[in-house]
Amino acid sequence: MYDDIGGKIMFQAKLSLWIGITISLIVGSIIMSEDELVKLGVAVMILGCILSYNHFALCYAMGRLVQNSDIIASPYRKTQKEQQKRSVQSELNNDDNSTGVGKCQICNKENVKLYNIQLKDGYGTRYRNLCADCVKQYDGVIVPPSK
Ligand SMILES: [Zn+2]
Repeated sequence: MYDDIGGKIMFQAKLSLWIGITISLIVGSIIMSEDELVKLGVAVMILGCILSYNHFALCYAMGRLVQNSDIIASPYRKTQKEQQKRSVQSELNNDDNSTGVGKCQICNKENVKLYNIQLKDGYGTRYRNLCADCVKQYDGVIVPPSK
């Protein structure tokens, strides 16, 4: 649903182009069936097709723009995420960052290496002693123990 928005906009643009042209031609030919309204019917057909095409071109260009900017941004976004993950992992590998062995305050696992995590939310800043798995899950900052 949220993936490839650009491609979906482009698909809808094509779809509405053909719907618009079909409706213009049908309505135009209905109007033309009255002998004195032939010119009006032709005008409806031509104008309808031009408007449909203009709408199509705008939406299609917009979809192409969104798709291209997604493509341009994707490698950057991926490396940013990977770097974040890697830096958390290296902090967890560093024994100096652990506050010792004990019980995790979130998953209640016992005898695990704990890390003091600074969590910020709507209630302010809190500190929790968490295991490595919970550190990875919660978006907190590891605070090394002061010596
Ligand atoms: Zn835990």
